[in-house]
Amino acid sequence: MQVPSQEAALRAPSQPRPVAMPVKPSLVGMTRQELRDSLAALDIPARELRMRVGQLWHWIYLRGARDFDVMTTIGKGLRARLAEAYTLARPEVVTEQVSRDGTRKWLMRMPSTSPFDKGAEIECVYIPEVDRGTLCVSSQVGCTLNCSFCHTGTQKLVRNLTSAEIVAQVMVARDRLGDWPDENPPEGAFVPSDGGRFVTNIVLMGMGEPLYNFDHVKAAMDVVCDNEGLGIGRRRITLSTSGVVPMIARAGEEIGCMLAISLHAVRDDLRDVLVPLNKKYPIATLLEACRTYPGVSNAKRITFEYVMLKGVNDSEADARALVRLLKGIPAKINLIPFNPWPGSQYECSDWETIERFSQIVFDAGYASPVRTPRGRDILAACGQLKSETEKLRARARLMLESGIGAEGMFSAAE
Ligand code: SAH
Ligand code: SF4
Repeated sequence: MQVPSQEAALRAPSQPRPVAMPVKPSLVGMTRQELRDSLAALDIPARELRMRVGQLWHWIYLRGARDFDVMTTIGKGLRARLAEAYTLARPEVVTEQVSRDGTRKWLMRMPSTSPFDKGAEIECVYIPEVDRGTLCVSSQVGCTLNCSFCHTGTQKLVRNLTSAEIVAQVMVARDRLGDWPDENPPEGAFVPSDGGRFVTNIVLMGMGEPLYNFDHVKAAMDVVCDNEGLGIGRRRITLSTSGVVPMIARAGEEIGCMLAISLHAVRDDLRDVLVPLNKKYPIATLLEACRTYPGVSNAKRITFEYVMLKGVNDSEADARALVRLLKGIPAKINLIPFNPWPGSQYECSDWETIERFSQIVFDAGYASPVRTPRGRDILAACGQLKSETEKLRARARLMLESGIGAEGMFSAAE
């Protein structure tokens, strides 16, 4: 596997952009209703709309069409009208980095939304295993929540991604992996080898708090799950939240996805510091929402994420308290080795400490709790995502070169 040098991964100098040029909208990422509206705008007769949406859906989401010309079930005339008004463009891939372990990280630039917007940048990470491929998708540009151990929370610019921008991350991943009918993966790429699709699971664990962008996340997951298109099962989607309690039940009812909770502490005084949202929704209310999560059962457990911070939350007493706290909730526990980033105030717990902690959790009946380290050489791991070139400044490079880089990556979803 080729690992691009940091230099090669740096973005190309951006071209001067024409200001206020009318941009043709892309149909890629649209919901059925949005496609319908786009067709209606071309004066397609109302009685044809349903059929036309079905055709576009098939070509875009099942076949991965990048050109209207390949849409042979649609007449030439309509194809030409579509091409005149719309595109099938995906977000621009600014950089692609491939880790030694096959993990891929893409920095994507969304199309500009106004003459003053240079296009939001987000990161998206692909983690291949032999029998599955997990795509870690972002739901916001940046995050408003400022968890003290998370790099994303330090990003100044924050906005919600649209549902189309969330879906487009899956489309780009499938393009780059050659994961469409009649396409092949790039030479030497690590992809699942069980004969199925290369993107099989989605974790909403990239940049942002998905429950602060509920409507767009929900609409995007409806597109991604649709069996006539991308067809990813709802139980193969895991939404991770820092604990937006009032929205948790809706995630179960309306998205029907698996739930992961960023717990990270067993006491409110500490969680208030690590995850400041805890001041609004303390541990007891959060766990109550988990107990009553729609569909929760032993077959559909909630994942509790727990980042291992040296001397902060990693004592044996913490491990025992964690087990006591989760009693009665069908749960999986994911211990995440802390991934340092330039300027972070924490250190990752020692391996012996993580092992002792994990043993206590294991003895209480929770299997394989430590996340497999993935993407350590390309800053692709949890909490390291931050879409600004500053992330590759000297200190980060030093950390990488000295091997202190990212430790944890996930395989949280089933
Ligand atoms: N905002 C959501 C989802 C994105 S973060 C949430 O907080 O759950 C995905 C996971 O990575 C969360 O569990 C988060 O707490 C964890 N994380 C953040 N920064 C990290 C870091 N530096 N090292 C390890 N895990 C981190
Ligand atoms: Fe936001 Fe999640 Fe990072 Fe907290 S851990 S700042 S909620 S992305």
